[in-house]
Amino acid sequence: MRPRLVMKFGGTSLATAEAMQRVAEHVIYEDRPKLVIVSAVGGVTDLLLEAAYAACAKTAAEPFVIEIRKRHFEIVDKLSIDSQVIAQLDQELDRLLTGISMLGELSPRTRDALVSLGERISARLFAATLQKRNHSARAYDSWELGLTTNDVHACAEPRPECLGEISQAISAIEDGLTPVVTGFIGRSPTGEITTLGRGGSDFSAALFGLAAEVEEIQIWTDVQGILRADPRVVPGAEVIPMIRFEEAAELAYFGAKVLHPRTIEPARRKNIPVRVLGTFQVDPKDPTPIWEQGTLIDDRAPSEPVRALALQRQVESLHVHSMRMLEAPGFLSRVFEILARRRISVDVIATSEVSISMTFDRTEGDLNAAIEEISTFAEVEREPNRSILCLVGSGLREDAGLLSRIFDILSQNQVPVYVISQGASRINITLVTDPAHALNGMRALYQELFG
Ligand code: ASP
Ligand code: MG
Repeated sequence: MRPRLVMKFGGTSLATAEAMQRVAEHVIYEDRPKLVIVSAVGGVTDLLLEAAYAACAKTAAEPFVIEIRKRHFEIVDKLSIDSQVIAQLDQELDRLLTGISMLGELSPRTRDALVSLGERISARLFAATLQKRNHSARAYDSWELGLTTNDVHACAEPRPECLGEISQAISAIEDGLTPVVTGFIGRSPTGEITTLGRGGSDFSAALFGLAAEVEEIQIWTDVQGILRADPRVVPGAEVIPMIRFEEAAELAYFGAKVLHPRTIEPARRKNIPVRVLGTFQVDPKDPTPIWEQGTLIDDRAPSEPVRALALQRQVESLHVHSMRMLEAPGFLSRVFEILARRRISVDVIATSEVSISMTFDRTEGDLNAAIEEISTFAEVEREPNRSILCLVGSGLREDAGLLSRIFDILSQNQVPVYVISQGASRINITLVTDPAHALNGMRALYQELFG
């Protein structure tokens, strides 16, 4: 076969029998040859991990296992699927958990093997759902179609050679069949199951799309598309009709959880447009063509001054100040070497001749130890309670007047700005403010820029 598109469905799109039916309609309604990528049934990946940790600590894994089975077998029952299609994998769950509990140890290898059951079961359930509706389909574990990775468990890298292998494997599939392929998982050269990192099914979709050189990669999810702002902050925030790859990448990193950040790179390499669509918002029977719905990520997106806003409510910031920094080569590298060693990743940074300001996600690394070390050669000021407001848009590069407009809006709304950083790509402006003003700042900017 030669698929013309990849359709990827996330966990919430596959959480119940009704959701699976809905997804089946989207797949059947689409008449181009396609390859389907699936996540685990909604919530199952988390439950598998909980079960694994519980088994390892020798506390009761049973409630998690019961819940996993309930979710899978409710779909089996309601859709009258032959339970044999998942029986073997379901037993594997018991086998692996028994092993973990007996050893009292959870190796990354076993953890990946266990968590892979989520995608492997959902692919079988969904292929069976399609077959029930007389649509020719077959479930594949991703490695059956050539997806191999290195052996770094929990965040494996696909091997570069695998693109050619995937492409060959797909072309050997008979015409008229819809392959339903597991997202998120792969296999190392020695045959161990690996995973691509949480949320990694989007990345799988992009890899298969790249290998098959499809005309579009569709990411079907539980929201309508990529929004201009977080709707919990700005109720009724608009869906972005088109957005460029570099902008989508900035947004993905800045907390718009719609798309896994690693999805962008493979798609962009061959300029394959990525469309984000809402499984429950798009009506398969609605005559509105799919190309007028959701968000299209494509470099042909017309320039807009600002495409979207993003917010990180809680971050820490650090100001490092030292007169010794003046014309001192190596000062920055010294500071960043300490942060790297303490496993702290810096999100936003601004520097002057004698100071550096930066922000971090507060959950990572050993900040106290890093501060102690830096304090031996510089003054360090720590501010644990900060927020980041981020504006993304390729127009920021082109419109010099825009910056002053943004700062006018912020000052009219009494939003303090402590640090300003404009990324090297110059398509984002990041402002550090405080949590008390961040929400209002975001709403005011939205109102003025898109309202
Ligand atoms: N099921 C995996 C997760 O929950 C992968 C994915 O859904 O993309 O992280
Ligand atoms: Mg996801």
